[in-house]
Amino acid sequence: MMLVDSHTHLYDMKKGYVLPSDIFPVVVGYSHTSNHKALECARAGGYPVVLGIAPQTTVKEGISKLDEWVSFIRESRPNAIGEVGLDYKWAQTAEQVEDEKRAFSKMIQLANELGLPMVIHSRDNPNDNGLPKDAVEDILAMTGKAKLLMHFFSGNSGQAARIVEMGGYISVAHVRSKERRKVIYTVPLDRLLVESDSPYIGRTPESVREAIAYIAEVKGATPEDVAQATTKNAMEFFGFGH
Ligand SMILES: [Zn+2]
Repeated sequence: MMLVDSHTHLYDMKKGYVLPSDIFPVVVGYSHTSNHKALECARAGGYPVVLGIAPQTTVKEGISKLDEWVSFIRESRPNAIGEVGLDYKWAQTAEQVEDEKRAFSKMIQLANELGLPMVIHSRDNPNDNGLPKDAVEDILAMTGKAKLLMHFFSGNSGQAARIVEMGGYISVAHVRSKERRKVIYTVPLDRLLVESDSPYIGRTPESVREAIAYIAEVKGATPEDVAQATTKNAMEFFGFGH
């Protein structure tokens, strides 16, 4: 059975890594440099590609080249815009928060213009430093009715329920936590996807097998049912088929 890894940075894997024949990857960029690599990797393999400027990138590189970065994404005709969003753990100053928001609103505009869904990165601020804390709330306020996939979702089950109600999807990696278990329990199987976020969270795309086992366990379903559902959901979200 074909499994879809809905979020991998496959171009950052060790040279010579061979993908198992039953895993189909969605290749994701996060910066102008990685967007180039993602596009090349996806075209070579015939895989879907997701291009965007992530909030971690704007903290590191600023936003002075944002227009050039946006043009490249537009010309590349990706399957979705991502990973994009807000990362309040990375932002250490009000100005960095502002840059993240400005880049994100450009990404939202671009997704609207191209009629594409968005793959969202979000992380809350764990510190009491006077900067905004709740990234998911601010993201939902900014995106309105856009079609969203929450990648490596770290919010709570109440937020997950709202996202599903708004038509969104939730992507689950193999990493276990009490809150994630509640999220998996809450979100219906027809709105769940699996991902490795390799090589950063899962070491390779094969960690989606563990994510599938995790969902099967929480839902009391068979791994086959979960594999079939998450693959179908990924095909619908990213608009590719066999
Ligand atoms: Zn990622």
